[in-house]
Amino acid sequence: MPKFDFDFFVIGAGSGGVRASRIAAGHGARVGIAEEFRVGGTCVIRGCVPKKLLVIGAHFAEDMIDAKRFGWTADNASFDWGVLRDHVLTEVDRLEAAYRTTLTNHRVVLHEGRAVMADRHTIEIDGKAVTADKVLIATGSAPQMINCPGAELAITSNEVFHLNRLPKRIVIAGGGYIANEFAGIFNELGVKVTIVNRSDKLLRGYDRSVVDRLEHISTAKGITFRYNAPFESVKRSQDGELRITFQNGDALETDLLLAAIGRLPASSELGIEALGVKTKERGGIRVDKNNQTAIDNIYAVGDVTDRIQLTPVAIREGHAVADSLFGKEAWVPNHDMVASAVFSHPPIASIGMTESQARIALGDVEVYTSDFRAMKNVMADRNERSLYKLVVDPVSRKVVGAHLIGPDAPEIMQGLAIALTAGLTKEQIDRTVAIHPTMAEELVLMR
Ligand code: NDP
Repeated sequence: MPKFDFDFFVIGAGSGGVRASRIAAGHGARVGIAEEFRVGGTCVIRGCVPKKLLVIGAHFAEDMIDAKRFGWTADNASFDWGVLRDHVLTEVDRLEAAYRTTLTNHRVVLHEGRAVMADRHTIEIDGKAVTADKVLIATGSAPQMINCPGAELAITSNEVFHLNRLPKRIVIAGGGYIANEFAGIFNELGVKVTIVNRSDKLLRGYDRSVVDRLEHISTAKGITFRYNAPFESVKRSQDGELRITFQNGDALETDLLLAAIGRLPASSELGIEALGVKTKERGGIRVDKNNQTAIDNIYAVGDVTDRIQLTPVAIREGHAVADSLFGKEAWVPNHDMVASAVFSHPPIASIGMTESQARIALGDVEVYTSDFRAMKNVMADRNERSLYKLVVDPVSRKVVGAHLIGPDAPEIMQGLAIALTAGLTKEQIDRTVAIHPTMAEELVLMR
């Protein structure tokens, strides 16, 4: 008779939790998983996936204009938000069902409800207790709310996919991923967009030159930016309008306010601190390189650890924990050289050190740039230039950073990321024969 109900119990059926549970089950472990909302987690249900579909849907606005220069007539084109929203939500339902099937096929037992740890081996799901040898916390993160009177009048990325109708105007608080991605989506769909950021920096952590290029292009497309503007209050007027007052006394009227000021680890009310699991300043669970917490049978992966809040990182961490605990070989996920993308219009993609990070870390660096207009933009008479930058360590000759903005930059980056993760030198990249005519060929032609 086994000592515990499960060998492995996962709290949170998002990207990291589902991967960990199915890999552990594949190694023969008896696995349970708890989910209080929907299977798939933020990425599938109200993050990356529906966002990317909206980005694709919104971009048709530009394509329709550009199509005229390629001989097409699209004069009677019209847009119906309800159709796009409903198709996106249907696709989310399909993916959730696929995730549930994956759990079932791997004989992972799904418990639908809120899980709380009663002791280091006991998990209570809506009052029902189960026991497990090892426990994984993969509860992700939740949107941080703005902190001022009237903040409850704002929506977050949790609600934005469900809007009944598009607003005429939107104010987006924040200057990070979600702010710039939704600014692009709403702007393409004809909404007047204002990004309001508390500091004067957008997309902190990204290379300044690609961020400046995004701001330049976004401004040309009609998005307004307001910097150094902390909120004082938000009020709703009798006619339904929102009035935002800033700490410097300025005010702005809008129809919808989207808070996109970061995501906080969902670590509270799990009963873990009482067990001795340690957390950090913003609530992130402290883990070592093996994703083990201060309690040796409890592990944590993904956003709840507040390191790199990216789905593919959570997936690798979950995979590593499952392999290490139940597979033949233990391994540790690598947090260096993680490629990322901002799905703005146009998108940004990045890997490795920015130019300024590399200058601080390495002293002298070589920087190669290509500033060009994609063929399609030239023919469409669209004044939108791409910028590619490679940062090279002059001693090892390795490309230590790559930063792209332009059409399909994330697709192009995925290929380049393989080369950079393998540690290729600038000369090895230069020896690659170009595919002509492409945008990506610029990467092998920078001298
Ligand atoms: P980000 O961390 O990207 O950006 C947060 C923004 O809000 C920054 O501009 C920051 O300003 C500002 N901010 C932070 N705290 C406050 C505050 N208290 N008051 C006002 N402004 C504040 O957050 P997002 O919400 O856009 O996204 C959350 C996370 O989700 C991202 O970090 C990312 O890891 C992930 N994500 C990834 C995506 C992708 O891979 N494409 C897409 C969407 C989200 P300042 O810089 O001055 O601190």
